[in-house]
Amino acid sequence: MYFGSVRFFKHLILTVAALLIIVPTVLCIILFIDNAKKSAEIEQLNSAIAGYNQSDCVTESSSEQADSELSVTQSDTSSKNDTPSDSEENSDRSDISGEAETDDTSSEAESSSTSSEAESVPKVDVTALYPDLYVKPYDGEYENSQNTVYLTFDDGPSILTENLLYYLNKQNIKATFFVVPERTEYCYSLLKKIANGGHTIGIHTASHDYEKIYSSVEAYLDDFNEAYTIVAEATGLSPDIYRFPGGSVNDYNSETREEIITEMSRRGFVYFDWNVDSNDWQGLKWTQLYNNILSDCEEFSSPVVLFHNTGDRENTIYVIEDIIIALKQKGYNFGTLSQKVQPVHF
Ligand SMILES: [Zn+2]
Repeated sequence: MYFGSVRFFKHLILTVAALLIIVPTVLCIILFIDNAKKSAEIEQLNSAIAGYNQSDCVTESSSEQADSELSVTQSDTSSKNDTPSDSEENSDRSDISGEAETDDTSSEAESSSTSSEAESVPKVDVTALYPDLYVKPYDGEYENSQNTVYLTFDDGPSILTENLLYYLNKQNIKATFFVVPERTEYCYSLLKKIANGGHTIGIHTASHDYEKIYSSVEAYLDDFNEAYTIVAEATGLSPDIYRFPGGSVNDYNSETREEIITEMSRRGFVYFDWNVDSNDWQGLKWTQLYNNILSDCEEFSSPVVLFHNTGDRENTIYVIEDIIIALKQKGYNFGTLSQKVQPVHF
């Protein structure tokens, strides 16, 4: 009987011992060979990189520059926390591009580097965009706004617009709507109702996407033109006043606000901020809205009050009639914003 015999156990011990020696040895050999192969590959790569550096340094520096520029451009368009240094870098780069265009004596390396920059940051002539996006600016005297309240409603029209129009009409009040229009039949019909009610329509934005619209003058014009076109199609009006999403000074437009305002003013448009914020977007109770607005209005002889007319601002609808009645009792008149009203800017 072999199994269970002394001989069997001897063989078993020898086999186990052999396995304990052979298996690690084989593994070590495999790892050693693999390691040697990798070392050889790394050496090959190093020598290839060294050769590349010596023979083609101009191309490499040019591509590095393009990469770094790409990353700056991306941060310009996507980050809300752009620093002033980014702006300075941009202007520096455009200076360099300008020189490259005029300086024929530049070396080949410089020319290659700067022309790649010019290609990746094309200079758009924003004044040539949207040739129909112009209004006639008012150049007369401002009207007397003493004791006049300007109620303004942003971000509509919405499912609550008709409720709002009902109360405004009931109190025989005209207001100003800075709209976010959409290409829907419903929105077109609401825009018509606002206009037919004798209220003023100003442009707010089509997308209300801060990062997008404030990324460049071109992007702002693109968005503005969309909103402007929808209002014109729906009402036949050509709004000549507007309000910036987030107001004219916000965290997203520090790099572009001056350029945008300059271009919009050149096209005849006037923007309005506000001096009384209802804070209705914070979900305050209607009693809080009522008290805040009335006390804040007392600080101005021409309060421009910011409300919102989105579908979730029921509190604004609940409180608007009481606010109008209280302001009337305080002796205020009600007006709509136009280019004849002295603009309120932050
Ligand atoms: Zn808004």
